[in-house]
Amino acid sequence: MNKNFKDTLNLISHLTTRRLWNLGAITGSYILSKWTGKNLHSGMPAAISFEPTTSCNLRCPECPSGLRSFTRPNGMLDPKFFKKVIDEIHNELLYLVFYFQGEPYLNTSFLELVQYATEKGIYTATSTNAHYLNDENARKTVESGLDRLIISIDGTTQESYESYRIGGQLEKVIEGAKNVVKWKKELNSSTPHLIFQFLVVKSNEHQLDAVK
Ligand code: SF4
Repeated sequence: MNKNFKDTLNLISHLTTRRLWNLGAITGSYILSKWTGKNLHSGMPAAISFEPTTSCNLRCPECPSGLRSFTRPNGMLDPKFFKKVIDEIHNELLYLVFYFQGEPYLNTSFLELVQYATEKGIYTATSTNAHYLNDENARKTVESGLDRLIISIDGTTQESYESYRIGGQLEKVIEGAKNVVKWKKELNSSTPHLIFQFLVVKSNEHQLDAVK
């Protein structure tokens, strides 16, 4: 079976009657608002995004985290705050995104938070530069129940990789990805679904075929 289709099926399997009802309420109130021109709102969030941290080990030139140039307060997500929000909305919440700007694995509570969401039956996804996927973290990642893991690999040589991922080591990315694949096999787990992200820039556009 196509792996992306399998991931979609996995997402659908997280739907419950209450979550379906909630999606209906959101969609219904949206349509009613359009029709009537009034601000009618019903339902709870079906998807939410949490940023585990704003910190990053790399210095990508288009990212506020890489540039250390946030205009908002930065730091680590407080596990207490996270759990409080999840406790309030988990019955309706279907999809939880664990990234925006910053490297999620720098938050030492990150995988514990993923596990917390998993136990509430929520679909979870994150994105990483893969520099912290050592053997132990890779095993814990699979054990946490994380559903989707996006790994940034933006070159097939160190030179092209680091032209955007400044300060990064391509070798570490490949090793981290291999560790996750190894633990998925070892623990006989179909998750996390792995997606490799390749940002196309001048210095790596000739490597598109090679990276595939
Ligand atoms: S690895 Fe991600 S979070 Fe870190 S600087 Fe680059 S784009 Fe930003």
